[in-house]
Amino acid sequence: MCCDGTLFSEVSVRPYDDFEMLTTKGLTIRPQGEELVFGLPCTEFTGGRCAIYDCRPAVCRSYRCQLMRRVDQNEIGATEARELIVEVLVFRDRVRDSLHEAVAPDSPTPIGEMRRRLRELIGAPAGSDGPVLDHAALMHEADTLGLLLSRHFLDDDVAVHATSDRPAPIGHLRASSSARDVGADRHS
Ligand code: SF4
Repeated sequence: MCCDGTLFSEVSVRPYDDFEMLTTKGLTIRPQGEELVFGLPCTEFTGGRCAIYDCRPAVCRSYRCQLMRRVDQNEIGATEARELIVEVLVFRDRVRDSLHEAVAPDSPTPIGEMRRRLRELIGAPAGSDGPVLDHAALMHEADTLGLLLSRHFLDDDVAVHATSDRPAPIGHLRASSSARDVGADRHS
């Protein structure tokens, strides 16, 4: 979920990364403010693996999600962690498919963006086009997905900064709006 855009929308390339090599390997790197970033889903994430694993950027090497840290600290067993990942992936796929059907039937769109569109649709004034009320249950599921991602996978530092819509410090990773919005909701 770190590489496929579920948790994050982009990754910073650090000054000590080999920019030319990463570009040659296929990453599309672009300026974002004072940083260089590449967007997620990552083009090098294929078949559930990193195609450039041995030379992946420094941020990819160093990042460990909250669940991995809990496994490292023996707070949760590897089997239980795997089961949780599978459970969340199944739920994510179902919510993503429903969001596609509701707000983005014609093009691949990040979950966070679809969630934003759905929220707009639900907030549309009475009498506007679209089955607004029918989407309330889906909105609830999309919010639940965001909570699960935030609770189990986002690093605490990322979650804190995600709530204020600022880039995550360790990050050099930016929380995707599918997870970020939850924090905003929680504090609103
Ligand atoms: S470079 Fe590899 S580890 Fe980094 S985001 Fe892409 S697929 Fe994931």
